Amino acid sequence: MRYPALIVNREKVLENARTVEKLCRSNGIAVWGVTKGLSGDPRLASIFADAGFKGIADSRLRNLKKIKDSGCGLPLQLMRIAMRSEQEELVGIAGISLQSEVTTIMALDEICVRLGTTHEVLLMVDVGDLREGFWPDELPASAELLRELKGGVRLSGVAANFACASGVLPTSENMTALARYRDTAAGITGMELPTISVGGTCCLDVIERGQAPREVNALRLCEGVMLGMDTAFNRKIPYLSRDALRITAEIVECKLKPSVPVGTVGLQAFGEKPVFSDRGVRKRALLGIGRQDVNIDRIEPIEDGVEIVTASSDHLIIDMTDADCGVGCEPGDTLSFRPLYPAMLACSTSEYVELVFE
Ligand SMILES: *Cc1c(COP(=O)(O)O)cnc(C)c1O
Repeated sequence: MRYPALIVNREKVLENARTVEKLCRSNGIAVWGVTKGLSGDPRLASIFADAGFKGIADSRLRNLKKIKDSGCGLPLQLMRIAMRSEQEELVGIAGISLQSEVTTIMALDEICVRLGTTHEVLLMVDVGDLREGFWPDELPASAELLRELKGGVRLSGVAANFACASGVLPTSENMTALARYRDTAAGITGMELPTISVGGTCCLDVIERGQAPREVNALRLCEGVMLGMDTAFNRKIPYLSRDALRITAEIVECKLKPSVPVGTVGLQAFGEKPVFSDRGVRKRALLGIGRQDVNIDRIEPIEDGVEIVTASSDHLIIDMTDADCGVGCEPGDTLSFRPLYPAMLACSTSEYVELVFE
C-alpha cells in the first residue's frame, strides 16, 4: 500500500447509506447520494446505488462525467449552478440540475431544443442561507418568465440548501416555506413541480424527529453517510458509523526531542507565530503527510494519546509520548486519523493521497 492514503471502508459506508435510505423512505423521502466528498469517485456512486439511493448528485460536472463514464445507471444531478461555459456539456451528462437564474434556464432550454433533447430543472430557492437560489420575493416574476419555456427544459420542482454558507439550520418552518414557494411557482407556471428537494446532512435532524413537512420528498446528502457527523448541528449522528473513512500516513522519523525549540523564534512557514509550553523531552513522530494534502486542524487521531503538534507543507508532527502505540514506534509504522469534512475534501483532491476502497 502507498501512503498517505484516504481509506474508505466500503461495508461501513454502505451500512450508513442503507440506514439513511431506510429512515428517509419511511418519511416519504428519496435520497440522492452526493459524491463530491470523494471528488466524484465512481466506486462511491456504486455504493450509493447498492444502498438504493434514487440518484447521484455532485457540484462538479467533471465528477458527474466520470460517474457516467463508469456506467452508473442512476440519474445524475448537477448541484452547482451551471456556468454558461458548461451548459451544453451539462445537458449531455446530467439529466437534472439545480438552477437559480431565469436567463440560464432559458439558455438551457434553447440548447435542449437545438439538440433535440430535454433536461430537468429544480428551481433553487434561497430560504435564508444566502448562497444560491431565487429570493422568495423575485420568485413570482421569475416563474412568470419561465412560462415561455419551449419544452427543452422541464421544471420538476424546487430545492433549497441549509447551513451551506451562513449556517442557517433547517426547521419544519423553513421547509414548509419551501413547500409554499413551490405552490406559488406551480400556480404561476401551470406546471406540477412535484419534487421538493432539501440538503444536506443537517436535514436529517428534522427528518429523524418526524418534523419534515410531508411535501418534502428528496434529500441530498454526503457528510452524514461518509463521516457519521453533522457539522451544522455539531453532533455525531448516533445511528451512523464514524469509522467508514480514515486517513493513514507513514512515520518517517521517531525521536525524543525537547518540547521547546532552540533559537530565536520568528514565523513558521505558514506565517503563524507558534507558541510552546515546556513539557520536557517528548517522543515526536514525523509523518509523510502535510498541509498540501490535508487540513490538519480538521483531522482527529484515532488512537488515544496521539497529539497533533503542528505541520508544514509535507510533514505532520505528532507527539506520541502518551500513546500506547508510541512505545516501540519506528519509521515504517503508520498512524490513522478520522477526517472531518474539509479534510475529506482536501485528501480526495490531493494527487499525493491514494484513494483506497477496502
Ligand atoms: C454539498 C451539498 C449537499 C450535501 O451536503 P452534506 O451536508 O455534505 O450532506 C447538498 N446539496 C448541495 C447543493 C450541496 O452543495
